[in-house]
Amino acid sequence: MRKHLPDLFEETPDLLHGLVTQFSPSILKDEGVPVYRAVQRAGEYVLTFPRAYHAGFNSGFNCAEAVNVATVDWLSHGQNAVELLSEENKKTSVSHDKLLLGAAYEAVRSLSGGGGESGKSLAWRSFCGKNLALTKAVETRLRMEEGRIKALGSGFNLIKMEKDFDSNCERECVKCCYDLHLTASGCNKCSPGEYACTKHANELCSCEGNDRFVLLRYTVDELRSLVRALEGEAEDLKTWASKAMEALDLDHGLV
Ligand SMILES: [Zn+2]
Ligand SMILES: [Zn+2]
Repeated sequence: MRKHLPDLFEETPDLLHGLVTQFSPSILKDEGVPVYRAVQRAGEYVLTFPRAYHAGFNSGFNCAEAVNVATVDWLSHGQNAVELLSEENKKTSVSHDKLLLGAAYEAVRSLSGGGGESGKSLAWRSFCGKNLALTKAVETRLRMEEGRIKALGSGFNLIKMEKDFDSNCERECVKCCYDLHLTASGCNKCSPGEYACTKHANELCSCEGNDRFVLLRYTVDELRSLVRALEGEAEDLKTWASKAMEALDLDHGLV
């Protein structure tokens, strides 16, 4: 698209996010992009895979619905999307960290025996354990955040985030709209009520002294323990089973 519409791209850098520009499949084919066609009939589903460029039209009277489905093995694609969207200062439609942690809570509760050895807990088992989809997604996210916090240096106080920090309002980075469910940085001195992600903490202000902070829903050590819990370590499972219950109750408005 960049090659065929250079002027339009310059004008509207986020052209690919808009729904107003489509290419003829023949141009795509000429450029070596594989193109497939699907005809959807009543009662049928069409699944669009992550990052698949797609377009469609109605060929008659129609009533259709599009929904986003997040399977556990989608989480790594979701993480990728979150990072790409923040580079373009675009909001995400859901909090990916909340979704990721929510899956981890359910898995931990299941693995620790909550709810019995049902089909559900067997299903979670197939995503947990060393190097399996959910464990890997949590570990990747932990590494990413750990790196970002380290890169900030020592000018920030690390503080535990209030559990209901984003329960009643959306919290997002003032610079890039990154969702702040897991971590948020701020400064008491110059910008009360404003938060940035850990990538932009240094751009929020340049105050020195003791006023800048990073709020952490979980410390890096706690998240490491969560990874071990998903891998099946008994001690960590025990610790996280109660944290998970607490978080799930908060989510369901029980506390
Ligand atoms: Zn940011
Ligand atoms: Zn400041």
